[in-house]
Amino acid sequence: MNKLEIQSKIYHFDNDDNLYFVTVILVDEEPIADFSYYATSLTELKKSIEQKGNYFILTCWCGIPDCAGIDQGIQVIHYQNAVKWTIHQPKPNRTFIFPANDYKIIITEAIEQIKLDIANLWFTQVEEKNSKLEIVPRWEDDKALIKLLNINQFLP
Ligand SMILES: [Zn+2]
Repeated sequence: MNKLEIQSKIYHFDNDDNLYFVTVILVDEEPIADFSYYATSLTELKKSIEQKGNYFILTCWCGIPDCAGIDQGIQVIHYQNAVKWTIHQPKPNRTFIFPANDYKIIITEAIEQIKLDIANLWFTQVEEKNSKLEIVPRWEDDKALIKLLNINQFLP
């Protein structure tokens, strides 16, 4: 079985003042993609807890998978004791198997932690450094993500 981890990471670039809040997926302690280019859709990840399907868990920073060359989601299959991921894009093709018990817990807890991380950042970093916090993938128009992360409280 493989080990799934979900972490948040802040990216900052020299050419703007924004802080970019990125969710990183690691399997067996390795990021499954280059998260300075690809992004994690928490709404898709959450949906994958409940039932099998193809989910655009990996997408572009702007939220449109196609834009990053992804037209095939991660195939998620639920077995009695395991959840299987088959990734075709980005290359290479990969298959991961996670313990079913852990899968829901890891994702649910990660989302709760990310909510806290974002709330903390909003009140500390943003004011201190006078920079703008951007949640990646682009969140302003994503009603499902706004609801999931309870970030409507921060909207102007
Ligand atoms: Zn894009």
